[in-house]
Amino acid sequence: MGIAEWRGKLERGEVSARELTDQHLARIAAVDSTVHAFLEITTERARADADRIDAARLAGETLPPLAGIPLAIKDNLCTKGIRTTCSSRMLETFVPPYESTVTERLWNAGAVLLGKTNLDEFAMGSSTETSAFGPSRNPWNPERVPGGSSGGSAAAVAAGECLASLGSDTGGSIRQPASFCGVVGFKPTYGRVSRWGLVAFASSLDQVGPFSSSVADSAEILQVIAGADRRDATCLTNPVPDYRSALEQPVKGLRVGLIRECFDAEGLDPQVKASVLAAAAQLEQLGCELVDISCPRFNDGIATYYVIAPSEASANLARYDGVKYGHRALAEAGGADNLAMMTARSRAEGFGDEVQRRILIGTYALSAGYVDAYYRKAQQVRTLIRRDFDRAFEQVDLLLSPTSPTTAFRFGAHAEDPLAMYLADLLTIPANMAGLPAINVPCGFDDQGLPIGLQLIGGVLQEARVLQLAHHYEQAARVMAQRPAAALVA
Ligand code: GLN
Repeated sequence: MGIAEWRGKLERGEVSARELTDQHLARIAAVDSTVHAFLEITTERARADADRIDAARLAGETLPPLAGIPLAIKDNLCTKGIRTTCSSRMLETFVPPYESTVTERLWNAGAVLLGKTNLDEFAMGSSTETSAFGPSRNPWNPERVPGGSSGGSAAAVAAGECLASLGSDTGGSIRQPASFCGVVGFKPTYGRVSRWGLVAFASSLDQVGPFSSSVADSAEILQVIAGADRRDATCLTNPVPDYRSALEQPVKGLRVGLIRECFDAEGLDPQVKASVLAAAAQLEQLGCELVDISCPRFNDGIATYYVIAPSEASANLARYDGVKYGHRALAEAGGADNLAMMTARSRAEGFGDEVQRRILIGTYALSAGYVDAYYRKAQQVRTLIRRDFDRAFEQVDLLLSPTSPTTAFRFGAHAEDPLAMYLADLLTIPANMAGLPAINVPCGFDDQGLPIGLQLIGGVLQEARVLQLAHHYEQAARVMAQRPAAALVA
């Protein structure tokens, strides 16, 4: 059942917010020792919020759209008074004194916080293996990663531990874990959703978005979190359309481009390719016109991203100096007896290997003498990637590709080779480069019973159209109705 169905039941008094919350807390208690989606479970607060909603309903108040809907939040979104760690030792004890805009909007809409979810440290990774607090596990097969960086948020929805969740997507961190976990994950247009209170990774790429078990539920969440915010100067002021009513608009005649470079990509699992091509055929049956599109610069996406994102990260993470907040190396523990040494030791102790690797790459790429060769060059290639999209959207309404080249891989599969891990972002990065809205929708299963996902990319601020086609596909394909028996964690 989706958010709209639960809302109906809540309104009719067939279930109370407290019961719905307790059901989910019980599910967390039953499966999270296996899945480890949560870093913190906010039981007391969830029950108190649910009780307050039930009392307001009994008093006859009209309640906001998400009243009583239990959600989970990626632990890089600041929640006032609730620890926000970014899965890093650096922020292990950080309790934000303020609330992020997106979560504030969710609570104002009546949503209930179940807890904070695991991620790759500072959202750097594709598997949650870089979390300082241990990885999350894929609910379809606990020997597989859930994807990342928002792996906890994706796994929580897949395992039925919450109705929906929030993640962040810098190079694919919503869509790739959604694909691995067989759920819907949506990255809106850059600036459509406020980043205020999202711990910064790469500020020109970061965007917050929902995970859910249906497209309609992602529309519900986006409806609440989207829109202008004067606390984030990059947040767009364009009015927010009615996403929910857009879902039912007809899709006949929509032109859908198949990005040739994505289907020919090196390392693309043939089962993934076949499944997404079958989905394309289904879109054709729905009345869409399929168009072959070439975006030659997409193949430069990874190289470009792994200069730009670490560069921005190295600047953003400079704030963790062991002085203002976050982990501080203690003088007693080994001679950090001057400021420079204290900062260096604090950072060496607080950041894990992947974060340190990114900071080093970024610092190098931005340093005098190299900034033109690397950072500026990467920005130029970024422009070329965006132009590929511009040209494509002169011919089509939406673009289609696989979300990830493979299904969920095993723990440790890329441990020896960070570059192999970076390949997981091959198909998702271009949309971040151009700031475009893009969604993952489950489209099938491989022979191991692991979910496969397709990606639909829209033009700037075309969220409604992306959701619309995704919804029609989901309703026609009914992928989850054909899921392998007893696949999900029990
Ligand atoms: N996997 C990519 C990375 O490691 C993307 C992460 C993200 O979108 N936050 O940077």
